[in-house]
Amino acid sequence: MPTFREPAATSALLTMTSPGIVRRTQRVVGIALFFLLMVLFLPLQAIIFYEFSKLERHTVISNVERAINTIDDERQQLLQLTRDNASWNDTYSFVQGHNDGFIEQIFNQNSFETNRLNLLIILDTAGNVRAYKTYQFDAAKGTANDAEVLRRITTSGVLNQIGSDNGATEIVQLPGLPLILSAHPILTSNFVGPSMGTMIMGRSLDAAQIVQLGTQLRLNLQVHRLDQPDLLETIRNSVEMITTTGAPVVIPLTVDSVAGYGLVTSASGTPTLLIQVTSSRDIVWIGRTTALYTLITFVVAGMIAMFTLTKLLNQLVLERLGHLIQNVKMIGIDKDLRHRVAIDGHDEFSLLANTINETLSALEQAEHEQREAEAQREQMWEDVIASRRNFLATVSHELRTPLTPIRGYADLMLHGIGGAITPDQEHFLQMIQQNSRRMEAMVNDLLVMGQLDAGKIDLDIEQLAVAPAITSVLAMLEQQIQQQHVTVSVEISPDLPTVRADAHRLDQILANLITNAVKYTRAGGHVQIRASYGGADLVEVAIHDTGIGMSTTEMERLFTPFYRADGVLRAQISGTGLGLSIARSLVELHGGRISVQSTPGVGSVFRFTLPTGTAPESVAPLDQTSTAAL
Ligand code: ADP
Repeated sequence: MPTFREPAATSALLTMTSPGIVRRTQRVVGIALFFLLMVLFLPLQAIIFYEFSKLERHTVISNVERAINTIDDERQQLLQLTRDNASWNDTYSFVQGHNDGFIEQIFNQNSFETNRLNLLIILDTAGNVRAYKTYQFDAAKGTANDAEVLRRITTSGVLNQIGSDNGATEIVQLPGLPLILSAHPILTSNFVGPSMGTMIMGRSLDAAQIVQLGTQLRLNLQVHRLDQPDLLETIRNSVEMITTTGAPVVIPLTVDSVAGYGLVTSASGTPTLLIQVTSSRDIVWIGRTTALYTLITFVVAGMIAMFTLTKLLNQLVLERLGHLIQNVKMIGIDKDLRHRVAIDGHDEFSLLANTINETLSALEQAEHEQREAEAQREQMWEDVIASRRNFLATVSHELRTPLTPIRGYADLMLHGIGGAITPDQEHFLQMIQQNSRRMEAMVNDLLVMGQLDAGKIDLDIEQLAVAPAITSVLAMLEQQIQQQHVTVSVEISPDLPTVRADAHRLDQILANLITNAVKYTRAGGHVQIRASYGGADLVEVAIHDTGIGMSTTEMERLFTPFYRADGVLRAQISGTGLGLSIARSLVELHGGRISVQSTPGVGSVFRFTLPTGTAPESVAPLDQTSTAAL
């Protein structure tokens, strides 16, 4: 059983079968992935941004806190330095007036530099300045003189904060720079009093100091003093926000930088300095890059998913579907129900293929049964025809047998062999003779028909001249022609070649056609018989009549056995409807053709051809023909 296998060029097949499905599927998958991407990616991106911004904020705040802590450390460290120097017997005795060279000896330039000190003040218990020494202090004190500096320091509150044995630290705004101040009571080295006064140390927070702090912390640090009248808007807002929230604030400056602000307050809680830590927005950029990579990953994953899905869809569904369609199409083209669809696997497609195959098997079976039934019918029909033929042959033969003696005895009686006959008897005998002849002709027709039908007619072919055949047939039909009162003329072309024909069958053809021409022409009409060379080694015989003619529809069925035109039937002209059918079969048996032209009420022309026996030496034109009138 032939099956269609998977075609080699599957993609071409697919394009041929279902391009729409592929495109539609890709579109659907694409849209689905796009929405999935949006649903997943947008929130994810928001989360990434949020988290990284949070991280940035957290980092900036912690940097600000580190900076503030460092300044606090600075304060504590200065306080420690002050404590170390204030709780010392040498300092103690200096204030008591016993150690005059102490200041120059201990607090020399080198000591200021090493300890990053800018100011040293020693006050006695009465508040008198016992020592006042500065180092690189001009920038810090600005326009203020020493008295003004002293006034600011003593009114800063730092002195009020110190106890009998512990110190205090404060930030004081000098006209030039903020100053970290620390104060400690002057005690003995064993931290016992009574206190001889107060030692005050100052370290200015100048740019170099801030840079150094920033470098230590690896931060971009700036310090804004808050005692200036023309504070920047940002600074003012930041201070406000910090005091409201109690925590450092983070403000993005540009897309690339962010600033964190924190407050350094005095011991009384008054904001004195605003610390600004500026950093690049690396974290946010990392967040952005992460989001971008996530997007790229999503897109690539989506495309891979789409590609894979399409591929799978192609492989699992569309190719198989295309293959199935192609198979069914091929069956349709071949119209061969023996073909089967071949689809591997166990899925809906193989199920469908099986169903198609089962349907094809059922159709094939039905077709087979139908063919068998047709063969049986044909056989039956042939049997029927054969028995009809046998019946016809037997009946015709049996009918003809008694006809010959009937006609023979009538002839004998007409010739007076049986004695004298009266005129009435003669008339009756003539009627018997005439009707038996007609019946004989009919029976003969039936016999010939039967023989033609059975292919049992063998032609006895010989070279024959057409003219004598025509003359002999006309002589045979003389009585009918006279009774019909029609005239008959014959035109034979000179040098007409002989034909290759069976003499008896040629007579039969001529007799049938001439009989019809005479029979279907009214009294006074004319029948003309012409025989001429028809070309292509054929002799053409044409029988013209001026009879009743036929319609086109009638002509179409003319040569069908037993067919008789309605008009003729109405006119009560006797006949069997076999004459023309026999004539055609006999002409064709000779290798010729028969045709008819007719116009109702005007007349008809029947033409038939027969192969020439010998080629004519010359064919005379029609006006040289001889005419024989009967
Ligand atoms: P039939 O025995 O009826 O003449 P044919 O086979 O010879 O049978 O002719 C078939 C039919 O063809 C006739 O019945 C008639 O209707 C028509 N026919 C044949 N020859 C002619 C003709 N020359 N003119 C008109 N009709 C004709």
